[in-house]
Amino acid sequence: MIIDKKEECDIMTDLLPLYVENLTQEDTEQWIKEHLSECEQCRKNYELMQASFTEMIKEEKKVKKKKTKLFKKVKLRLFLYGYVLVLAVIWLYCMWDFIFGF
Ligand SMILES: [Zn+2]
Repeated sequence: MIIDKKEECDIMTDLLPLYVENLTQEDTEQWIKEHLSECEQCRKNYELMQASFTEMIKEEKKVKKKKTKLFKKVKLRLFLYGYVLVLAVIWLYCMWDFIFGF
């Protein structure tokens, strides 16, 4: 199969997202690397995509961190409520005789 330069670049555009995420087969990867070393346009595309992919991963991590923080807060609050409830029950238990005279 003979493909011209323009077609190669079209294929590259399709493959770059996969390549950035390391989802390409070894043969394909080899072909991409070869093309990238010869074609400046695709290399630029690749760099852009790589940068935005890295940015995306960073954002994802940030969101995850935020979620964990929120979860911790909720857990702490639940713990405090539980603590207060236990104290109330103990207090009620101790004061039962006193209040109701049994
Ligand atoms: Zn190209």
